[in-house]
Amino acid sequence: MIFRQLFDTASSTYTYLLGDSASGEALLIDPVFEHERRDLALLNELGLSLVATLDTHVHADHVTGAWLLKQHAGSQILLAEASGASGADRMLRHGERVSFGKRWLEVRATPGHTSGCLSYVLDDQSMAFTGDALLIRGCGRTDFQQGSPAMLYRSVHEQLLSLPAHCLLYPGHDYRGLTVTSVAEERRYNPRLGGDVNEGDFSGYMNHLGLPHPKLMDLAVPANLRCGQPADGTARGADAESDWAPLTLAFSGIWEIQAGVLAERLADGTAPQQIQLVDVREPQEFSDALGHIPGAKLLPLNQLTQRLDELDRERPVVAVCRSGARSAQATVLLRKAGLARVANLAGGMLRWRAEQLPVEDGQE
Ligand code: FE
Repeated sequence: MIFRQLFDTASSTYTYLLGDSASGEALLIDPVFEHERRDLALLNELGLSLVATLDTHVHADHVTGAWLLKQHAGSQILLAEASGASGADRMLRHGERVSFGKRWLEVRATPGHTSGCLSYVLDDQSMAFTGDALLIRGCGRTDFQQGSPAMLYRSVHEQLLSLPAHCLLYPGHDYRGLTVTSVAEERRYNPRLGGDVNEGDFSGYMNHLGLPHPKLMDLAVPANLRCGQPADGTARGADAESDWAPLTLAFSGIWEIQAGVLAERLADGTAPQQIQLVDVREPQEFSDALGHIPGAKLLPLNQLTQRLDELDRERPVVAVCRSGARSAQATVLLRKAGLARVANLAGGMLRWRAEQLPVEDGQE
């Protein structure tokens, strides 16, 4: 099985990727709207196809990426029947299974933080995804969205702390950067729910947290009741990044253009936005055996920021180097300098030559 834990710094939300390596089928638990492209890049780089997204509950602190991922990956939207949300492809109930390849997750109802909270337990009970029902040495609040301390106490004890002691628990959030815990640890050390804490102790604790409501609550809850579909019903407009060429976002965060795509654009004299090619290698490399792409401007990486005024800010820029590493750094510098349409030539001159695309000054 392939497993990744992803993080959203704005809301301290964890997103989990589970993939079956044999079939290539994958699930995302609690994807975040703003990270759709990051998540798609990772799935792509790992060779996985997203069959479904699962939310643990209707979140109040971030908007789910479920709807957006469905638009771009064709994934099914799954969440609790008890969530009251509309737009899901499958409404989950306690005891059901969600498959990805030969693996599956068991759905457990764990209400209390909200009335529609679900936890997902891996088929062999080696890991469970608890949403906000159980956090590391903590738990989700119970003071809105039909939350109830009594219900949460029962859910955690009956459905989560009853799992095997070695079962790893992955929470929906952590605000200190902790990543994982286990049933044994939480049974013993959870200050709200572990040890000898009874339901009365727990309710007393939870009813006096005195927390302000989450900042995004008024925006996030209505959006999540639509599974993350924007209020105007549409996907975002064309990206500034992609109005001049089809680009791919690498998981590293770098926008890339593939050699074949670039060659086509350069050959197309009718393209409305002529691409500026910036070769960021050293002068001697510019005319060595690899050669350079016809029309490329030599602007070594160490001079790039001083010579920015030699570039037309209105035209797209593609950065080029030997392997694609230095030019990736160049795209970061160019974007920092305020240029909006910037991409890295994936694989650099090495790939350009391997694909037998035209060069100047190079040798066979
Ligand atoms: Fe929550």
